[in-house]
Amino acid sequence: MTKTDQERWLRVKDRLRAELGEDVFSSWFASMDIEACEAGAIRQSVPTRFLKSWVQSHYAERLLACWQAEDKDVIRIEITVRSAVLKTTTTKPAKGDGEAFNGAAIRTNGGDGRGAPLGDAGAHDALGGSPLDPRLTFDNFVVGRSNTLAHAAARQVATAKRGDPVMFNPLYIHAGVGLGKTHLLQAITWTGNGIGERKVLYLTAEKFMYGFVSALRSQTALAFKEALRGIGVLVIDDLQFLQGKSTQAEFCHTLNALIDAGRQVVIASDRPPSDLESLDDRVRSRLAGGLVVEVGSLGEELRLEILKARVSAARVHHPGFDVPPQVLNYIAKAVTHNGRDLEGALNQLLAQNKLTGHPITLEMAERAVRDLVRPMEPKRVKIEDIQRVVARQYNVSRSDLLSSRRTANVVRPRQVAMYLAKTLTLRSLPEIGRRFGGRDHTTVLHAVRKIENLVGNDMALAEEIEILKRQLQDNP
Ligand code: ADP
Ligand code: MG
Repeated sequence: MTKTDQERWLRVKDRLRAELGEDVFSSWFASMDIEACEAGAIRQSVPTRFLKSWVQSHYAERLLACWQAEDKDVIRIEITVRSAVLKTTTTKPAKGDGEAFNGAAIRTNGGDGRGAPLGDAGAHDALGGSPLDPRLTFDNFVVGRSNTLAHAAARQVATAKRGDPVMFNPLYIHAGVGLGKTHLLQAITWTGNGIGERKVLYLTAEKFMYGFVSALRSQTALAFKEALRGIGVLVIDDLQFLQGKSTQAEFCHTLNALIDAGRQVVIASDRPPSDLESLDDRVRSRLAGGLVVEVGSLGEELRLEILKARVSAARVHHPGFDVPPQVLNYIAKAVTHNGRDLEGALNQLLAQNKLTGHPITLEMAERAVRDLVRPMEPKRVKIEDIQRVVARQYNVSRSDLLSSRRTANVVRPRQVAMYLAKTLTLRSLPEIGRRFGGRDHTTVLHAVRKIENLVGNDMALAEEIEILKRQLQDNP
């Protein structure tokens, strides 16, 4: 897919926005990305199945019409769910900041379109590591009050030499979404492998599970373990997603084996070790036995610094990209907490500036921020609110939802509430189970799948859920 495809998609988005109005547009299309474009067929992606089925049943024709207005040769649009799409671009890590920004210049927020670089990542690739993003280096990391310690510890780990005493093991970094965990972990990987002293392997918890499970199936678990033991530093991202008893047992073995052998382990998670409810006590205490560092929310000052760094990086390739100081101040004020949204806001401004040639104004920034902040809102929904709103809607009591009653009039609302809890909050399945009267995570998973399937076919239910979502998101 080329840059022009991205630009065409931006223009199609503008058409959609103009035709449907800001609210409808941002509800259904803000998180849509373009994935591929060939011979009259456009492939687009959205983050959830629900969005996919909704857009298909309500906006398929409109979307196609907008594309055709842009390019009459377009005859078909296929919508996929993003997690199932694997992107494999090959880029090298950028040495200068400029290139680093360039790679993502028109990437919209949402999908994790991380490239799989070659070169310095050789060792990492050979071991089957997860894709690395060339922009996530120490050079591009801005240090501020909230992340000083995490940054110092990460640097220490990245530059330690083979045979150096291990200072803290594991290094465990936790923080909310978008605060730079993945950035630090990948920076460790780039730096470590660049120095070439110790092989660094970066794996998401999902990749760890997948690698191990498939290795078991092909009966090469031993080889897999050998490979793990051959590495100097094991980096595991998003540990909260580690699921399943046998995977956890294996994780535990791997952790012990590596630590006992004096290898460095680095872990990131959205919560401290004590809150990893699905892991058993011994693993938790082992995880807590090294250095546990929390990255605090990005303060306004740090946000401003990050923005400035991004702009000057972008200017290397787009010298005309002038962002007045008051616009930067506004974004730093308006986009709270999350580094991903900062990037998204700037990318939108850059794209607009490049496409229209108009200078960046405060109004443009306000619009960009509005577009971003809405779809992000779900993160603030609380499980209690979901239970309250769902109970009211279906005329049952909140304690009915938490009870073990299985009558139909309670079961469906309960499933809907669990589904909403999974889609609107960042809580894990076990945690949601616990909040719904101590249910097992498999029960929650079943409920989520059930509603996902129903929603695809049952428009009334889909609409009901949409109304619930609106209620929850509009009046937090
Ligand atoms: P997490 O893994 O904690 O959810 P990421 O590491 O993916 O967050 O960060 C989200 C975005 O914010 C990334 O683009 C990252 O580069 C940026 N970011 C976060 N913290 C910083 C920082 N201190 N300096 C520069 N960029 C940052
Ligand atoms: Mg991350």
